[in-house]
Amino acid sequence: MEVENGPGWEIVIGLEIHVELLTRSKVFCSCATGFGGEPNTRVCPVCLGLPGSLPVLNAKALEYAVKTGLALNCEIASFSKFDRKNYFYPDLPKAYQISQYDLPLCRHGYLEIEAGGVRRRIGITRVHLEEETGKSLHAGTSIVDSPFTLLDYNRAGIPLVEIVTEPDIRSPEEARVFLEELKRVVEFAGVSDVKMEEGSLRCDANISVRPRGASRLGTKTEVKNMNSFRAVQRALEYEAARQIATLRAGGRVVQETRHWDDAAGVTRGMRSKEQAQDYRYFPEPDLVPIVLSPEQIEQWRRELPELPAARRERLAREYGLPAYDAAILTASKKLADFFEEAARAFPDPKMVSNWVMGELLRLLKAENKELDQVPLQPSDLVGLLSLVRDGVISGATAKEVFEEMFHTGDPAASIVDRRGLRQISDEGALREIVRRAMAANPDAVQSYRQGKEKALGALVGAVMKETRGKANPQLVNRLLLEALREAKP
Ligand code: ADP
Ligand code: ZN
Ligand code: MG
Repeated sequence: MEVENGPGWEIVIGLEIHVELLTRSKVFCSCATGFGGEPNTRVCPVCLGLPGSLPVLNAKALEYAVKTGLALNCEIASFSKFDRKNYFYPDLPKAYQISQYDLPLCRHGYLEIEAGGVRRRIGITRVHLEEETGKSLHAGTSIVDSPFTLLDYNRAGIPLVEIVTEPDIRSPEEARVFLEELKRVVEFAGVSDVKMEEGSLRCDANISVRPRGASRLGTKTEVKNMNSFRAVQRALEYEAARQIATLRAGGRVVQETRHWDDAAGVTRGMRSKEQAQDYRYFPEPDLVPIVLSPEQIEQWRRELPELPAARRERLAREYGLPAYDAAILTASKKLADFFEEAARAFPDPKMVSNWVMGELLRLLKAENKELDQVPLQPSDLVGLLSLVRDGVISGATAKEVFEEMFHTGDPAASIVDRRGLRQISDEGALREIVRRAMAANPDAVQSYRQGKEKALGALVGAVMKETRGKANPQLVNRLLLEALREAKP
């Protein structure tokens, strides 16, 4: 579908994001969390919803949920409670989900983002704590024509926060940028490992359009089943165009849930959306309300690590880096930590930044790896850059060595020695090679002396050939010039 978003229409988007919290055990029982595992091996009567079992709140899950809210500038409720959200679906063994309804843990926050050079503040309506459902594996190619479904309850009961934004987002691109920043915030806050491909961060997107300048919001649809931030942007671009085309043709947007088909690049209507009353929310009788003292909340606030915006600002200031570098280096906490550890041990932080943004990110991308999946350590990079700075190897050689370090984690110096890559910086030895190169190329020597400076290149080339590229180029240049000046025939 063609995107037709002329100046006449305004797009309005609000996101609902689910993030799995990084606790070792589930939110209401002691079963292990963690991705994967043989299906239905990390289960117990509580997370299977067997009669007579009782939930007990995991204190760490509560702490992480509150820290999520604090990282998103929310007010934290001193009194909140759990509610049952009733619906029947096979991945929900109790036929209700323990969630929070009218008294969530966190409210009224915001997250600042920068999209297309514009800084915007996106309101966070609420953050609440709930339990994850099991996982349905539909056989066949799509949920629509699937002949049967397999169920794995290992995921059931993993702690989850739901983060709901205000309808403040104004373009599909801004939605993607918001998600990227949100991912960084929860990662830096240490509450989740946010792996979208493993489903630990999921996003449903609500979208409507309205004539520019209108004060009332249009009817929204809710789009589900996006597996990447890029997919969220594409799905919203499609959906905005579809709604605008519908309205232009005199039709009406129907409030419904739509399923994103990534391969086909379209959204399809699934069912009309449930209203809150369909869930028959009521207070969870098996759990006491959550009462938090101001001291407890302040302690968790103090424990929050440095968040991405602050870290970007500090990296730029402390290491004298351009804002561009600081933004790239804080793409993930691991990358920022890697940079800082290397930059603290090397006198030229910009050089470290160039290597991290250049070679390191290039190789990670080419091999589709995360930083913690490769053996390379910050100290290895420092070792390599020291060799370049001391003239032991050239910049070009350093790239080769870096690639080997990236794969093996061997120290730069030992790779350089094993492969015989040390530059020849021994003046005596080079002077002798220079003398031989001049003797073997009398024409070049003569041309140079007649004023053809280009002839120097041929002599440098001859020295490089004899040393198989290992001569220190600055030194070769200086020695050649000295020799050409001195030894007039
Ligand atoms: P629902 O009752 O359908 O769950 P909510 O008012 O709770 O709707 O909002 C759910 C999400 O949809 C929020 O992220 C909110 O910002 C967003 N939203 C609400 N109304 C609109 C709208 N007209 N257009 C786009 N997004 C909207
Ligand atoms: Zn359990
Ligand atoms: Mg709602």
